Amino acid sequence: MNKALGIDIGGTKISYALVDNNGEIKSEIKKVATPRTKEEIIKVLKDAILEYENEIEFVAIATAGAVNNENTKVIGSTANLPSGYKDIDFQSLSSKKVFIENDANAAAWAEYRIGASRNCKNSVMLTLGTGVGGGIILNGKLLKGKSGAAGEMHFMMSRKQERKCTCGAYDCFEAYASGNGLKQTAIEIFEDETITTYDVIEKATKNDKKAILTLKTWQNDIALGVLGLNNIFDADCFVLSGSMEKFVDAEEIENFVNSKTVTTPTKIYHAKAGNYAGMIGAVVLANELL
Ligand SMILES: [Zn+2]
Repeated sequence: MNKALGIDIGGTKISYALVDNNGEIKSEIKKVATPRTKEEIIKVLKDAILEYENEIEFVAIATAGAVNNENTKVIGSTANLPSGYKDIDFQSLSSKKVFIENDANAAAWAEYRIGASRNCKNSVMLTLGTGVGGGIILNGKLLKGKSGAAGEMHFMMSRKQERKCTCGAYDCFEAYASGNGLKQTAIEIFEDETITTYDVIEKATKNDKKAILTLKTWQNDIALGVLGLNNIFDADCFVLSGSMEKFVDAEEIENFVNSKTVTTPTKIYHAKAGNYAGMIGAVVLANELL
């Protein structure tokens, strides 16, 4: 089985490992804190590639930020990565072919090939973390849009202008469904500016009524967004991933969406491809496209 080097570049860490074409990790997973300059990031990537270059067929990178349709260049904003990151010429880092894809798209592909949405030709993955990532697969293909940037979960949930979103607009789905959204909901319900998502989770385990209401309200906001997405995409399934997904009840969301949708019933699954779905999906997708 041919192997590739899979690399996941996030705002806090860079992880890499050998991955085979079936998406199985074949080496130790190495992790480095993401450096604060473009030059240092290039050095980390070069060192990682040098370590494995003789054993691999290609390099596949899952990165924060939108990636062009040629899978060669980061084109979108990457607020959590240093300025200049977009200018990195990834192909120049290796003598082998270098393929890059947005991390949410890559993870969605891993779920489609080996994980929760296996065989769902029409699926939407929502990564619930600090923000919300989106990966949309339509008719068995990643939805990339004209430039490669499609799948951003910024659409309006309310016109009250209550929550300024990371994109600059107000009241986007992301401003409600994300970890930050949960925190904002908690601040409103507890009327306490200092409350954290950690406090909410902790209090909910002790049956605190406000904490439970906070989680229910947050989950309901997620369900409203999923309902809208199902009305647009008529998806076979949705996959929930990311650090916050374990705090939502997929079955409750599924029941809500299916009771209200104007298309057809869908399925809501928790992600299965694991913490390294990004690098796995990048390798599997690259293997299919290169
Ligand atoms: Zn937004």
